[in-house]
Amino acid sequence: MKKHSVIGICVITVVFFAISVFSFAQEIPKFEVEEIIQYKELPSYSEAPELAEAVKKGELPPIEERLPKKPAVIMSSGMSDGPGVYGCVWRTVSAVPTAGWNWAAGVTGGWFGIEESMQEGLVHTGMAWRLKSGEPGPNLATHWEWSKDGKTLTMYLIEGAKWSDGHPFTADDVLFTYYDCILDPNIPSWQSAGTWTVGGEVAKLEKVDDYTIRWHFAEPFPVYLLWYMGYLSFSVAPAHVLKPYHPKYNPDATYDSFINALPPDKLPPVVVGAWVPVYFKEDEALIMKRNPYYWKVDETGKQLPYIGEFYFKKARAGVQRDLDLIAGTCDQTHLETPGLFTFVNEQARLPGAPFKIIPGAWTLTFTLEANLSLYQGVKDEKDLELRKLFRNLDFRKAISHAIDREAIAKMLVPGPMLRPLPSGFSSGADYYDPEVVVSYPYNLEKSKELLAGLGFKDTDGDGILNWTSGPLQGENLIVAVKIHEDQTACIDIVEALVPMFEKVGVRLVSKIVKSTVGVALDIAGEFELNMTRQDFLSSPYTVLASLAPVTPSTPNWHRAGPGDKRDLLPFEGRMMEIVEALKYERTREGRQKLFSELQKLWTENLYTIGIIEGIYNTAITKRFRNIPIGVPARLHQWFHLNVMQEQVWVPKEEQLPEFLPGVVVKYGKE
Ligand code: CA
Repeated sequence: MKKHSVIGICVITVVFFAISVFSFAQEIPKFEVEEIIQYKELPSYSEAPELAEAVKKGELPPIEERLPKKPAVIMSSGMSDGPGVYGCVWRTVSAVPTAGWNWAAGVTGGWFGIEESMQEGLVHTGMAWRLKSGEPGPNLATHWEWSKDGKTLTMYLIEGAKWSDGHPFTADDVLFTYYDCILDPNIPSWQSAGTWTVGGEVAKLEKVDDYTIRWHFAEPFPVYLLWYMGYLSFSVAPAHVLKPYHPKYNPDATYDSFINALPPDKLPPVVVGAWVPVYFKEDEALIMKRNPYYWKVDETGKQLPYIGEFYFKKARAGVQRDLDLIAGTCDQTHLETPGLFTFVNEQARLPGAPFKIIPGAWTLTFTLEANLSLYQGVKDEKDLELRKLFRNLDFRKAISHAIDREAIAKMLVPGPMLRPLPSGFSSGADYYDPEVVVSYPYNLEKSKELLAGLGFKDTDGDGILNWTSGPLQGENLIVAVKIHEDQTACIDIVEALVPMFEKVGVRLVSKIVKSTVGVALDIAGEFELNMTRQDFLSSPYTVLASLAPVTPSTPNWHRAGPGDKRDLLPFEGRMMEIVEALKYERTREGRQKLFSELQKLWTENLYTIGIIEGIYNTAITKRFRNIPIGVPARLHQWFHLNVMQEQVWVPKEEQLPEFLPGVVVKYGKE
């Protein structure tokens, strides 16, 4: 009897321990669009104290003149804590150089939330995870409607919103962004004409009036394009600022000078987002202040954002953000380095810890990509023989059976935060279907059998299999795996894979490269295996082109060679058909059916070789309010957009001093 109760207490303790450590995800509340955002006139408006001061001094027009007639109202019903108060600073880290402000030309501000703080799209893809519809929410486009035949889409833009310099935002900005940046082949924008080609024709965009635009498509209902009208793919650019630098409007301008027209020291850039960069020093910091013209308010009429300042400390490695968070000098990080999980969890549990963990979903994905191209990056006989080998399903199966995924998960972090990933989508991904997943789990004998069946034999007795025929006859079977140095976890995983491959007689050689070099090697197709974090697969509908060989550069592991040459594998034809059908599929059920078939093909053919998946957690300061329950570190978008940063606030007594108190964004006359 006594023994029983002791066991009972132990069980209860263990259960409580598990809950406190891994705080199982709460049910995520879902909303109608109108519960999160509406566009309407309010009886009165108010603003941050430093802006009110500037108005008093005559440096800014009154708030009513800076806001649209019907501003975007972030509704209390969609807030976790309700309307907030002004002040405080959001401190974080950026580990990528700031190249400049011409985002429409693919110039990066330094990632890590910098782009999301200053850019805005027509739609809001970061809102989708909270919406009942699961579709993108409104943003600069307040609403839209399809024609009966599905070949035109009319979008209504917010009327009277202004850029941060007070210039009106209109349809001209949208047309400039589309025609003169996205579609112009001389400009390295994030998306290009290929994305916008429907039924063989590039979509046309018509200006109906200053606040109405109309898309024209060759095929009915290309609904996937809505996902490309949001942040980054369609971050709207300020036409009035950029036109004078564009060769189309200025015969003296060049594309080179256009791309580099807005260097990082040209401050402040003109933005339509919530914060404006005002201070920048490479290797030190980037500081942004609230946009005096931001066009979103809360239901009490308070102009957003609540937080007056964003502080990005400049660092060399992304892991600095985790370390600063633990030290209490950074306010938020996505936890993507499993080696730190246990430590961060322990720190979060300490009494008085300045931060907490928001449990995420299973969308952290570590995968091996085997290069399947017979043309791109094939420089010699050895490349060609290896590619032929990779294209043989039996070889991919042999590799998969050689990987002890459980052991890798345990090695990286003990406990339930990592688990085996057979192939394809992670289990937290949108449209994941466990029923169709085919897996080839750890089985040394099967792996060896398959390799023997392919003709490999250790002919010289050194423990590594030899090629027994073809141009590489007599040589050991050696395969190189590329890893990007900033992805610490990938380096650890490959270290564990080397002895596992050795057990079945395959020598794995790791090749660690800088991430910029790695991207260049990807584009050139110059890798054998690629060990990578496939974040994009968490939201497959938003990356359709990356799922099958539908463009020359996708998927990364099967790019087309010179002259678009590519020999499709038998299952890839059907994958292309599925992707094409998905573009026009309007129902969730219809999409699910297609994605299920895609996942079956993907996993049974080991299109990629999964290693492990993990829970993508967020660590965040306890000061912040209005953090939506269960906000994902990564789903359709990164945390910064998912959280809707402009609604985040800090109670007065918990606020920190700003680095540049009282500074108001101002533009000199040119
Ligand atoms: Ca050998």
